[in-house]
Amino acid sequence: MKKKLIFSGIRATGRLHLGNYLGMVKGMLQLQEDEKYQLLFSVVDIHAVTTPYDKDKLSQRTYDVVLDYLASGLDPEKSLLLVQSKVGDLHAELAFYFSTVMTVARMQHLPTYKEKAQQHPDNVTMALLNYPVLMAADILAYHSELVPVGIDQEPHLEVTREVARKMNSLYGMNFPEPKRFATEGGKVPSLAGEGKMSKSIEGSYINLTDDLETIKKRLAGAPTDSGKGESVPTSGGVANLLQFVELFMGEDKRKGYEAMYVGEGIRYGDLKNELAEAIYAELKPIQKRRAELEKNPEYVEQVIEEGAKKARQIASATLAEVKEKMGLK
Ligand code: ADP
Repeated sequence: MKKKLIFSGIRATGRLHLGNYLGMVKGMLQLQEDEKYQLLFSVVDIHAVTTPYDKDKLSQRTYDVVLDYLASGLDPEKSLLLVQSKVGDLHAELAFYFSTVMTVARMQHLPTYKEKAQQHPDNVTMALLNYPVLMAADILAYHSELVPVGIDQEPHLEVTREVARKMNSLYGMNFPEPKRFATEGGKVPSLAGEGKMSKSIEGSYINLTDDLETIKKRLAGAPTDSGKGESVPTSGGVANLLQFVELFMGEDKRKGYEAMYVGEGIRYGDLKNELAEAIYAELKPIQKRRAELEKNPEYVEQVIEEGAKKARQIASATLAEVKEKMGLK
């Protein structure tokens, strides 16, 4: 049986946090165990240069995500690991052809584009506008039908589906229309009370490499209330903390705390301590594996080279077909 390829990527903009881990990595790990699929875990370093970045730190950041993937459970015997720039020529060329079927107006309407344009008003570049088209190239180069990503990526997947439909109808390609593979951590909230956990928002995240003390410190900064009320808050800091309780300690624990809220009251110091321990218990084995990998750069390098070689074979076949069907012989 020919395995179906599943692509997903994380930008090389820093260490992985719990949002990346629960929203994307855990979905990938779940699919890794399914014989039907071959997973392609990518560090999308070319996407990282679409917003201002530090060129002296980029390769270290890429390597950090590689280590986080491997430490989290990416198994090179089963899955591929791809540093995007290793096949950047193929992905970028494919993205260029895909950009011929997407209008500027369509791309300007994307919420992610608008957000980034607001964050970096002096860097509203062609690359930023084209970000989702490059993402479509990443995914369609491997004919990936499922994409394990967080809910925030849904508008980008819609662009991928549009590109696929247009390339299929205009040029007779046979691209799938990829769907999001949803995980229970599809939207991990920010520790700061509002919005999602993101490495670009200070105070919002916990990294996979954080030790117990750091986790406690980060949780200490999460906003709370008096711990008591007539009904359990459904948004804001307390609601977010309860979501973390559910994610790391299960639904029953959450229900217990909810009952306390409408009863005798929650002592947030206790809740945060218990939560920190539960988060650290999940991260500890990952950190142990990461420390071992740090001592073995030759092995990591070999995994990167192997992944790039296999990805190149597949992506170059897709690119050749696109060129041929577009009349670029
Ligand atoms: P960030 O937003 O921290 O810069 P990326 O844009 O690199 O992270 O996202 C990498 C992956 O992690 C994507 O699949 C994205 O959907 C997922 N992800 C990021 N933040 C969260 C979150 N808070 N909850 C769930 N998934 C998330």
